[in-house]
Formats: sequence, structure tokens, C-alpha cells
Amino acid sequence: MRRVFVAGHNGMVGSAIVRQLNIAGGCDVITCDRQELDLLKQSSVAEFFAGQEIDEVYLAAAKVGGILANNTYPADFIYENLMIECNIIHSAFKSGVRKLLFLGSSCIYPKLAEQPMSESALLTGALEPTNEPYAIAKIAGIKLCESYNRQYGVDYRSVMPTNLYGENDNFHAENSHVIPAMMHRFHCAAKSQAAEVVVWGTGTPMREFLHVDDMAQASLFVMNLDRKSYELNTEATLSHINVGTGVDCSIAELAYTVANIVGFEGQIIFDKTKPDGAPRKLVDVSRLKGMGWQSKTTLEEGLRLTYEWYLKNEANIR
Ligand code: GDP
Repeated sequence: MRRVFVAGHNGMVGSAIVRQLNIAGGCDVITCDRQELDLLKQSSVAEFFAGQEIDEVYLAAAKVGGILANNTYPADFIYENLMIECNIIHSAFKSGVRKLLFLGSSCIYPKLAEQPMSESALLTGALEPTNEPYAIAKIAGIKLCESYNRQYGVDYRSVMPTNLYGENDNFHAENSHVIPAMMHRFHCAAKSQAAEVVVWGTGTPMREFLHVDDMAQASLFVMNLDRKSYELNTEATLSHINVGTGVDCSIAELAYTVANIVGFEGQIIFDKTKPDGAPRKLVDVSRLKGMGWQSKTTLEEGLRLTYEWYLKNEANIR
């Protein structure tokens, strides 16, 4: 059986990929906890790969966070992500892994990229300053894959998801992304019958949100495409593929939808002193659509599923 290593299996995306691989069957899923394998440590990662005979890698391990965390800990975001990518991609190559899928982010595209953002917008303009260090690390990951493909003929692919959400997300009040942050804040406000809830920024930025189970399905889909169709739909110098829904909404609309789902009936205040980030982030999904994949979960359905999960796991959420 194929031995498939999922790096980052405790995270939101990695855990969703493990679920999908188990549903699909036909492979041994290999994972390793942080206590046993420190992905920041080159020698440990090299040793791990040397002893495992892995066939495929899903690289879903990353240091991630929302706009405030990215702005507050830029050194951690660039350093940890570069180290994880370099260690895993190089050790995978050294141990003979021919297939790897690297998970990036739509923040690799320029702040003012034409919308929807196509794969070819990469490196055509300045990045959004709040998450530039993270974006630079993710761009480096794409270029690592492309370079190993070019020099050594391996088959390392990259997918660039839009903003993701779902079970196993990080619901931290300050450091998380907008959906879990809002869900947690509105839930607490509804419970304590607070009169108002504060949402960061002007409420006008537009964002696209993809449920993590859809992302995991897309990841398996891209990994399993035969090499010819993958390469026909990409270009030698442009190997990454966007994953999204093709639909976006304003942060204000999102806030009203989340309030409705968690049953918060008070007032929503927009704190304009907090950063908005990029004005709009909608990815062009035509390449992936052309290959035959489309997202299934609507935002409303996905938010309801996430809130059900949140309620069941409230005691243990991150
Ligand atoms: P981004 O897509 O990289 O900008 O990351 P985020 O998910 O952190 O933020 C998306 C948008 O939601 C930004 O315009 C934020 O200002 C806005 N936002 C509103 N309230 C919150 C909140 O409580 N937490 C976060 N992280 N963002 C918020």
C-alpha cells in the first residue's frame, strides 16, 4: 500500500486531509506528533524521512494566524514556515519521495491584484504588509516545489486555498482568523446576553471562505490527477493552483450571518482602528474547475456545521 505522510495532522487542514484519506482508503496514512518530530529541526526531519519509506506527502504543517497574529509575530511567521517547508521538501526529495502537495495561501498574491486573482498574478506587485512575511514564506514553498521539479524531475504540486474555516480551527479571541474569532465572540455575547459585539475594521473588506472538508477533497483531487492533465492545466513555470468557491462576501455580511447562526441579537459595532487588510481576496478558480473540481458547501451550511462542532467541543477548543 502507498505510504502517505500528512505533515500537520493536528491542524485544521491536516486533520481534514487525514479524514478524506481514510474515507478514500487504499493507503497507509502516516502522521507524527510534535513531541516526536520537531518540523523546525532539519536533522530530525531528515532522520524521520530516512526511516519511513514514504510515497507521498501532504505538506499541511504551517504556522498560521489571523491579521493581528501576522502583524504581531512576523518573525515567527516567516522563520517557522520557511524552516518547515525547507526541511520537509528537501528531506522528502532526499529519501526518494516523488509526489508531494504543498498547501499555500491566497495571500501570496499582490495586495491590489486584479480580482478574481488568477495564478498568473503571483509576483506581479507589492504584497499586503500585514501578512507579507507569511506570504513570502508561502511563495518560497511554491518555488521550492517548482525548483525540485525542474532540477530533479519530481512531481511536487501546490494548492493555494482562499480563507479556510471549519472544525479543528483555532478559536483564539485575538490570534485566530475572522470566522472562528467572530463565532467565539458572538457565542460568548449571546450566552451572556451582551448588548453589543465589536468586529474589527470597517466591515467593507471582501473575503471568500472555503470549508475545510472541501479543501481536503480538492487536495486529494489535485494530488491524484495524472501528471499529464496536471501539467496541461498548469505551466512549467507556474505550478500552483487556486482553490476556492468563486464567491465572496463583505466582513459586515459575514458578521450578520454569524450573529444569526449563534443567536446573537444585540448590536454589531465596527472598530475602525483595527486593520482591514487587503480590500478584496477572491481567487480565480477557473483552472481547477476546468480540471473537474468544484466546492460543494455553501458559506451558510459550512458555518452551521462549524458552529455545531464548536458547541460539541467547546470545552477543548484551541
Ligand atoms: P486576512 O484575510 O488575511 O485579512 O485575515 P483575517 O481572517 O484575520 O481577517 C479578515 C478580515 O476580517 C480583516 O478585514 C479583519 O479586519 C476582519 N475582522 C473583523 N473582525 C475580526 C476578528 O475578530 N478577527 C480577525 N482575525 N479578523 C477580523
